[in-house]
Amino acid sequence: MSKIQMKTPLVEMDGDEMTRVIWQQVKDILIKPYIDLKTEYYDLGLNNREKTKDQITLDSAEATKKYGVAVKCATITPNAARMPEYNLSEMWKSPNGTIRAALDGTVFRAPILVKGVTPYIPTWTKPITIARHAYGDVYKNTEMVVKGGSKAELLVTKPDGSQETSTIHEFKGDGIIQGLHNLDSSIGSFARACFNYGLDTKQDVWFSTKDTISKKYDHRFKDIFAEIFENEYKDKFEAAGIEYFYTLIDDAVARVIRSNGGYIWACKNYDGDVMSDMIATAYGSLAMMTSVLVSPDGVYEFEAAHGTVQRHYYKHLKGEETSTNSVATLYAWTGALRKRGELDNLPELMDFADKLEKAIIDTIESGIMTGDLYLISKLENKKKVNTTEFLEAVNETLKKAM
Ligand code: NAP
Ligand code: MG
Repeated sequence: MSKIQMKTPLVEMDGDEMTRVIWQQVKDILIKPYIDLKTEYYDLGLNNREKTKDQITLDSAEATKKYGVAVKCATITPNAARMPEYNLSEMWKSPNGTIRAALDGTVFRAPILVKGVTPYIPTWTKPITIARHAYGDVYKNTEMVVKGGSKAELLVTKPDGSQETSTIHEFKGDGIIQGLHNLDSSIGSFARACFNYGLDTKQDVWFSTKDTISKKYDHRFKDIFAEIFENEYKDKFEAAGIEYFYTLIDDAVARVIRSNGGYIWACKNYDGDVMSDMIATAYGSLAMMTSVLVSPDGVYEFEAAHGTVQRHYYKHLKGEETSTNSVATLYAWTGALRKRGELDNLPELMDFADKLEKAIIDTIESGIMTGDLYLISKLENKKKVNTTEFLEAVNETLKKAM
């Protein structure tokens, strides 16, 4: 069998710990035997980020803008404990944060459903996709601790030099304040990314904020979404038979719980951070989530939603057997290959991505799975396998499909 050819390279961002181990095995066992793989390789492992003073992360983001599609392995975001462990000269920033800021994107996360794993909300028969705005708000905040007797004000100096102030609070006792911002341009990109994704995947788009309380800040989000929808998307949505609707976040939460899934829930940055973990857990496992960052100019970065699975890696280093779930990492690869195939008009590459995803699901539904799923699967013939055995079992299924 001849290997599938590629035209444009994928931007490949390698990472850390257990997911780095899995990364190599995924390529060796499931990608390279079938595809003449073309990538531009960026090692975002923490050692190399230290060595390059994090320049490698910025370079990989630039390469993503140039080529249009990236696939990223999970990476360590250093904390105090990592400083001596990796002999770091600086506590380097989260690579995901750096890449998101460079691409100004929206992160879409959706659960991967398999038979045998019932969501904690059993009526959720279809996936719920969370679209998280990846710019601003509390992630770019300015905070202060304030002494009693202080008066805190918002002060804006306008381009003409004039100033506008507004009192936040006159503090009798000690307290705290926080300043947040967002940009009309970024909110507009967020709205367009959500509407485009809705059209791409033929799903309704829901958007929720707290605009009844935040009458200017959250209201601005609501207005920008409404305006862009009216002017640019209303007809397209009608033609596709899908809907956009806005509701207060409290109401959205209640509706989500009562729903059957099958829509995109657009969330502000913080809401999306929290709700995506809630959704992932409710569907069963963080390792069964797809995650893709989509920029307003149509650049895609596919990744796993979970971390580097440190606990399993330390077992692996001690020579102990691990049973780490590689599904989210595999879906990062299939997502990237399919998108590359779409952009380069390579139906064979898109078809391979479909077949590999089907082989993954079929393997798990045949009863072969890693420890995390073994704990929650209701299949009677279920069997727990180790990290490598799972990938090999997927390959056996895939061989039959090719
Ligand atoms: P984690 O990697 O998400 O793992 C936490 C726990 O969740 C694991 O110990 C494991 O539970 C379970 N788990 C997560 N992924 C799994 C998988 N694929 N298969 C099986 N079980 C899985 O979080 P962490 O270990 O606390 O964080 C490690 C590093 O990841 C941190 O340095 C953090 O900065 C980084 N991180 C990176 C990203 C990213 O790059 N996207 C995201 C989050 C965190 P059991 O131990 O019970 O088996
Ligand atoms: Mg989070």
